[in-house]
Amino acid sequence: MSNVFHRSATQIPVAAETGDGCYVIDANGKRYLDASGGAAVSCLGHSHAQVIAAIKAQLDELPYAHTGFFTSPPAEELATLLAGMSGGHLSKAYFVSGGSEAIECALKMARQYFVEKGQPERAKFIARRQSYHGNTLGALALGGNAWRRAPFEPLLVDVQHVSPCYAYRDQGDNESDDDYAARLAAELEQTIQACGPETVIAFVAETVGGATAGVIPPVPGYFRRIREVCDRYGILLILDEVMCGMGRTGQHFAYLDEGIKPDIVTVAKGLGAGFQPIGATLCTDTIFDAFAQGSGLFQHGHTYMGHTAACAGALAVQRTMCEQDLLAQVRTRGALLEHVLLERLGNHPHVGDIRGRGLFYGIELVADRTSKETFDPARKMHARVKSAALGHGLMCYPMGGTIDGKYGDHILLAPPFIAAEAEIHSVASLIGQAIDSALVL
Ligand code: PLP
Repeated sequence: MSNVFHRSATQIPVAAETGDGCYVIDANGKRYLDASGGAAVSCLGHSHAQVIAAIKAQLDELPYAHTGFFTSPPAEELATLLAGMSGGHLSKAYFVSGGSEAIECALKMARQYFVEKGQPERAKFIARRQSYHGNTLGALALGGNAWRRAPFEPLLVDVQHVSPCYAYRDQGDNESDDDYAARLAAELEQTIQACGPETVIAFVAETVGGATAGVIPPVPGYFRRIREVCDRYGILLILDEVMCGMGRTGQHFAYLDEGIKPDIVTVAKGLGAGFQPIGATLCTDTIFDAFAQGSGLFQHGHTYMGHTAACAGALAVQRTMCEQDLLAQVRTRGALLEHVLLERLGNHPHVGDIRGRGLFYGIELVADRTSKETFDPARKMHARVKSAALGHGLMCYPMGGTIDGKYGDHILLAPPFIAAEAEIHSVASLIGQAIDSALVL
């Protein structure tokens, strides 16, 4: 019996009781190696003393002050730190409580930007199929995962969806990266033209596609071409880095590897690393100035925005990232993760693709490696892997519907940045065992 409305209406999950570095320990004392940071959240593990002390200190000072009355030192310092991480490009931060809120905020900020600029006819967003941008209605409308959208379709605003950059399945055998990128950019351009270029607000994409696509890094040059198309029509580029940002790919922002500058970026998960619920919508001076020189007021806001203790927690997380040079560690441990995954699973008959960047990896499962045929969705391979992994004491983040919301299975890995080399080796060996066990379940 439970009075909690859990995610599943038929199962009550085991209670998590304590955290110890990269491990979560349940009520029975069982230890789980957290190879996915929950859902790419817990980048400093589950017991980081410095971060916990910073939050406690802030609670002693002042837990919360409403942003309609006050700013706070942690919010100011966090915004300055984030601006610095972007080289000054993302100069303003609007703090919210999570990823979906960050996306809702980005959509409204982009819309009001054009209202302020005297272009109220801009009212449409273009996003990508198989994307995930959150579960609130605006974010769900933006997302391109058919299964998640289906029950709520009548409530969703109209968003046009174009192809994701999904090289494993969609890049032609003889198609170069550049030709593939050009084809995708041309598709975006055609969609803009079909919408009426003067009606489009923004193109929204995850810089590295995450939860619903199974970690799909863009091919080189893709975002440069996308940026060019957006610029040609005066359309904003909004990058959703809720999952892939804040160090996950080995850069503070994943877009820094793409040679482009977005207009608005959303971050969340790794920002507070699970120690506090927090997200942020970051924007450039150009966006902010339209508000400052226009109505002077962004018509948005939440009670818990800029939450003082949440900002203090995120500040401590991001300071730790810098002081301990964890970006460098993400890159070296990420290279090790790729190596051990390839060693354990590179020739596995049911592993079609291993892809990723930094400590952010996806493993796509297939029934047949040559034809890339998927498993029958009724077999729910992703759920079998998750349950087998838990049995082996491993947390990973598998999902089905990788290709189109129905077909395909993948496993997402996002281990904590503090993982030791031995723990990365354990991730590969346990995930291998979980896949093998799932195949005979
Ligand atoms: N955007 C991306 C890219 C995500 O991966 C997620 C969550 O997985 C969200 C937005 C929504 O974040 P939240 O679950 O914190 O609302």
